[in-house]
Amino acid sequence: METVPYLIVGAGITGLSLAYALQSAGKEFRLLEAGPGVGGNIQTETEAGFTYDLGPNTLLVRDPRVAALLEELALPEQLANPLARRRFVVNRRHELVALGPKTLLGGKLLSARARLRLLTEPFRPRATGDESIAAFVRRRLGPEVLDWMVDPFVSGVYAGDPERLSLAASLPRLAQMEKEHGSLLGAALRGRRRKGSKSRLLSFAGGMQSLPRGITARLGDKILCNSPVTAIHPTGMTWQVESATGDWETERLILCLPTQEIARLLPPQAEALRRQLAAIEYPELATVALGFGREQVQHPLDGFGVLIPRQLGIATLGALFSSTLFPDRAPTDHVLLTAFIGGAQGKLPSAKTEDIVARVVEDLRSLLDIRGEPRFQRVRWWPRAIPQYQLGHLARVEAIDAALQSWPGLSLLGNWRGGVALGDCIGNGLEFGRSL
Ligand SMILES: Cc1cc2nc3c(=O)[nH]c(=O)nc-3n(C[C@H](O)[C@H](O)[C@H](O)COP(=O)(O)OP(=O)(O)OC[C@H]3O[C@@H](n4cnc5c(N)ncnc54)[C@H](O)[C@@H]3O)c2cc1C
Repeated sequence: METVPYLIVGAGITGLSLAYALQSAGKEFRLLEAGPGVGGNIQTETEAGFTYDLGPNTLLVRDPRVAALLEELALPEQLANPLARRRFVVNRRHELVALGPKTLLGGKLLSARARLRLLTEPFRPRATGDESIAAFVRRRLGPEVLDWMVDPFVSGVYAGDPERLSLAASLPRLAQMEKEHGSLLGAALRGRRRKGSKSRLLSFAGGMQSLPRGITARLGDKILCNSPVTAIHPTGMTWQVESATGDWETERLILCLPTQEIARLLPPQAEALRRQLAAIEYPELATVALGFGREQVQHPLDGFGVLIPRQLGIATLGALFSSTLFPDRAPTDHVLLTAFIGGAQGKLPSAKTEDIVARVVEDLRSLLDIRGEPRFQRVRWWPRAIPQYQLGHLARVEAIDAALQSWPGLSLLGNWRGGVALGDCIGNGLEFGRSL
């Protein structure tokens, strides 16, 4: 059995960021990863001249801690095409409408009644307590904004159901805007007046996978891949950890894992903790990368992508215009689309790859005016994709932290707390590492 002061389990972006902070502070640690490579959800592949991300496609950098990490890593960044500011949503007539102030005021997405109602937003009362995203949007902005704008947005970020997601946990910035300004429109106007937001949307040369690889290059032999942890045992002062490549003893064990995996590893006496963790839902989702000849797609693909409101009864949640975002992702005269299907409100047509591709292509065909069949296709099935921060989530995380008091030396991290976006996971991992 080897001994190490800090033992991290899980080399997704959370565990890697935490390890990076420990490394920077000169602390001795090891990081055990079950798979053959690092990055967890971050998965880039290259085939037939297409470079596609089957997990996260973009990183929004607005947290100074994340910006500082990227500066230190000095990886070749690729800023998203400025066209990415234009995001399309499908309206009742199955047309693609670019979201923005003009859409709110024009008649292409919202009825006259819904637009008039928007004007009353500053006078709506403030909420108290935990509220679903759907209830919040209905209350402040009206049901049409929920159905045609916010619901597709929630599909795009969480593959989630706004009726069940907690506003405070899932969209804390929106909850904060209401709390501070009493009005979303007022807060948005004030935000626009503030000079130059520092956020930027990016990926890396070679795709998103270059980020975990870049961090790994700084960590050297402290990461042990192909080392799934199979059991953890508290001894009182320390934790003993069994992994496929050997056993470890540590004073500080930090699991950076999905909740069901943590629940599986916890000792039998940790029943209350296990129940809280196991209650966090992760719906299934499939990512579908599709390559077409440029001439096969009549739509100019001049934006970030398209989101499809659930009201339309279309199975596909939406698609990124990946080769518009990052032009080197498709061979010359070709385009790459990355679509998503499934999620908390949807269902996959079947478990078969060909059925999933056929469904997505048919859904996108008329929206983007696609002729013929894709020249390239790849499906990645995520049986448990993204944790859902449902009503009561913040209280649940507090209960988890309280229950952890009975297990000294054990810490739990991951995208199921503090934000699912890559930027949140990086910030949380770095911050936790610096606190040790
Ligand atoms: C399809 C999809 C699209 C997304 N798109 C975006 C996007 O565009 N932008 C964005 O910001 N975010 C996006 N996200 C969210 C973001 O990718 C995730 O929240 C984030 O990558 C999670 O990182 P993590 O380290 O917390 O967990 P994970 O990535 O799940 O990492 C956990 C790691 O633990 C390892 N592991 C599991 N069990 C064990 C064990 N017993 N022993 C050792 N190791 C173990 C796993 O192999 C894995 O490497 C997307 C997520 C998905 C699924």
